[in-house]
This record gives sequence, structure tokens and C-alpha cells, in this order.
Amino acid sequence: MKINFNLLSITVSVTLLVSCSQSQQNDKQDVASQVTKTKDAISISLESIIEESIENNATEMMQKKEVPVLCYHRIEDGRNDAYSVSPDMFISHLKALSDSGYNSILPDELYDYLKHNNPLPDKPFMITFDDSRKEHITIAAPELEKQNFRGAFFIMTVTNNKKNYLTGDEIAQLAKNGHTVGLHSWDHVMVTKYTDSTFWKQQVLDPQEKLEDMIGKPIEYWAYPNGVYNRQAATELDRHFKLSFILMAKRDSLYPLQTIRRMIVPTMTPDKLIKSMRSNFN
Ligand SMILES: [Zn+2]
Repeated sequence: MKINFNLLSITVSVTLLVSCSQSQQNDKQDVASQVTKTKDAISISLESIIEESIENNATEMMQKKEVPVLCYHRIEDGRNDAYSVSPDMFISHLKALSDSGYNSILPDELYDYLKHNNPLPDKPFMITFDDSRKEHITIAAPELEKQNFRGAFFIMTVTNNKKNYLTGDEIAQLAKNGHTVGLHSWDHVMVTKYTDSTFWKQQVLDPQEKLEDMIGKPIEYWAYPNGVYNRQAATELDRHFKLSFILMAKRDSLYPLQTIRRMIVPTMTPDKLIKSMRSNFN
């Protein structure tokens, strides 16, 4: 863990100086209230400075308690596969999470927790959606918002505006509603096939720029197509994304931020979901 002590001491002395000169000009009552306010301000700014100044290394990040991350794909009736849940089942999953006291966090919060030790709410979890399906805006987002949850939506840009998939406006709406928009490649080619810079441009850089234009914010998170990862890709992705998400494979001890584990949630009872979250994450 690295802490920037210079920054810390400069900020504290500046705050003290300002508070001293102001106090001398006030009467006694004002001085008392000023001192209290200044003490509060110092402790708040100290806390945030300490948090931002901590920089965990890979080993320290690996030792931190994992946050359960869920991964959904299709939300529709009549399919019986590992990548689908019915709308009713999805809604009962969210209810069970809320009833069990879980609080959703977003990738920014997970990154600050892993890298800078920022605190998380009680019982944190993250919910993510892959493949840009239309039901992510018609069902997932509104149901999440009803429970005061927010999610991360990983977009493959080749499907934009196609039937059964999200439009550009809908993706922008997700971001506006407080959800995180991340990238899931251009057309779902796995990173192990990115053999030269043409692939990186087509699958990562161009779609990242397109999404950034669409939502007016940086795109800082990536979900590996098919969850497939290798060290070479992680090294490159680390230059473009704060976090990248795999599935239930092992994390890379050199690149824990580029190998965040997620559990695919197929049709399972809400009870089983809560139990699996506890057993699947350290
Ligand atoms: Zn996918």
C-alpha cells in the first residue's frame, strides 16, 4: 500500500492556517462554532485524502474480500438455457436481494474499494448484463430502479439499433438513469483472437469511442466476450479500462482488476441465488 504523505501534510497545514486567521477575527461564540466546523472539515478532507492516496498493489487487492458480481443475459419466457431467466424469476431475484439487505454497487465503487480501500455499503453486490438485449431497458433497468438498485450494462456495438437489441438512445438513457455502460466488444470476438492491432481497433478502440460519444462519458469497464481471458489481453486492456470482467474462472494474481469474477445467473430459486453468492465469492 502506497500513501502520499506530502499531499496529506500540505493540505492539513493549509486548512489549519486558514482556520487560525479566520478565528482571530471572530467573537467567542463564532470562534467555537468555527473550530467545530473546521475540525469536521479537516477530518472529512483527511478521510478522503487518505482514501485517494492509498494505492493497493495486486497482492493487496487479491487479499480483499470479493464482492459478489452477478451476470445476466436474456430476460424472457420460454427459454430453458443457462443464459436466460424469465421476467418473473428475474423480479423475484431482485426482491430476494433487497429483502436480504443487499446493496448494489457500481464498477466505480468496486474499483475505488479494490485500489484505494474506499468503504462499501453493507452487503454489497453488483449486477451486470451482457449482450445489449432490448429487455435490459424494458425490464431490467426499471425493475432495478424500483428496488433502488443500479447495474452495469456491457454493450456489443454491432447490434445497436437492431431488432431485439438496444438503440443508441436507450443506451444513453441507461447512463442517464445512473447505470454504468461498459463495453463487450464490437461483435463478440474473444480477446484470444486479437492477434494484431486491427483487432484491437475494431473490437475495442473504435466501439469504445462510439459508446463514449453516445453517452457523453468515458467508457472505463470491459466484459470479456464469452468470459474468455488471457494474460496478454489483460496487459493491453489494463491500458484502456479500470476494470475488466471475466466469468467464474480464476483471477490473474498480477491483474486482479482486469479479471473480476462474475457468476452467470440462470433460472434458479431466489434462495439458491443468495446461497450461491455466498459460496462462490471469497
Ligand atoms: Zn456476451
